[in-house]
Amino acid sequence: MIYLDNNATTNLHPEIADLISHSLYKNWGNPSASYHFGSKEKLTIEKARELVSNLINSHPNEILFTSCATESNSTVFNTIFEQFSNSSKNKIITTKIEHSSIIENCKLAETKGFEVIYLDVDEEGMINLDELETAISSNTCLVSIMWANNETGVIYPVRQVADYCQSKNVLFHCDAVQAVGKVHIDLEEIQIDYLSLSAHKIHGPKGIGALYIRSGTPIKPLIYGGGQENGIRGGTYNTAYIAALGKACELAKLNLNSYIKNTSYMRNIFEQLLSEEFENIYFNGRNSLRIPNTSNFGFKGIDSEIILNFLNNQDIFLSSGSACTSNVITPSHVITAMKSYESANEAIRLSLSSLNSVDEIKEIIEKLKTLISLL
Ligand code: PLP
Repeated sequence: MIYLDNNATTNLHPEIADLISHSLYKNWGNPSASYHFGSKEKLTIEKARELVSNLINSHPNEILFTSCATESNSTVFNTIFEQFSNSSKNKIITTKIEHSSIIENCKLAETKGFEVIYLDVDEEGMINLDELETAISSNTCLVSIMWANNETGVIYPVRQVADYCQSKNVLFHCDAVQAVGKVHIDLEEIQIDYLSLSAHKIHGPKGIGALYIRSGTPIKPLIYGGGQENGIRGGTYNTAYIAALGKACELAKLNLNSYIKNTSYMRNIFEQLLSEEFENIYFNGRNSLRIPNTSNFGFKGIDSEIILNFLNNQDIFLSSGSACTSNVITPSHVITAMKSYESANEAIRLSLSSLNSVDEIKEIIEKLKTLISLL
């Protein structure tokens, strides 16, 4: 198989698989227990917290463990709901190209009486900072803008957004799921208040994530329970997966430079070959700053499903940005916002990891040549 859908999820790193199995079989005590067999696992958890905070240059006590980035995002919105419902600060600003876990929370916010502004993006997927400045007013409580887009890889100007929010005394949440482990992140330099991340995008397991909460920033529990995580997130500690997230962050930090070098090298070859071989090819977001592993493209006049099905039959896995809900396929809201509904129907995403190879890139180009010549 050729797996080219690493923004959807990544394979589990073998070292992390070993660590999980060791924790589940040998060190399965409850960290909240008073006896040593359980309580020693508190050290495992605190070590993982330190490793997560190191990757984004923050402080361990600013890291909250969650079950996934969707929960991290929802925890931020729930905090905003509790803090600002029935107050005059009831405006939330986001973009049209966020992940569904943000968009759905924004829709929920609207039912709770919040006003939500969805910023437009241009053809290259970029927001306009002037529009953000105009949208922020004295009643804005939250700005939520992703670091990098999961479909196009486009990177957003989070430093400027953070500075602007800070100067206006507005909380800034950043969904950094697709940026963590792919670009340098330094939260001592950039004044983000909340940042969400997830293990399974960086060779960790599915079902574990974290929320960075800048010291002194308000936070309320989404899940109440036995007082874990200082009462902010109830539920018995998932020690194995927390340790796995820590390890994934440690490896991501160690491998960041080679990851950037390898994936951008392969992506450049891929995009160059596509441009050379096909006349009707176009790219989405290629002229913006992007994370190094992602390419989004389309063949003019050809539905992406035709291409993806053909590749799928040959065990080559890429994706479109379409969402499938109740058996109805909705073309990508990201490409629709950037370009048009037609482009969204044609959009294909390739997302690499360091484990991919130039040979795989060349093989997929050959397969595409075969298919396109038949159409
Ligand atoms: N945010 C972005 C940008 C994502 O790409 C994803 C997953 O695809 C999520 C949030 C949700 O992450 P999780 O699967 O950990 O809930």
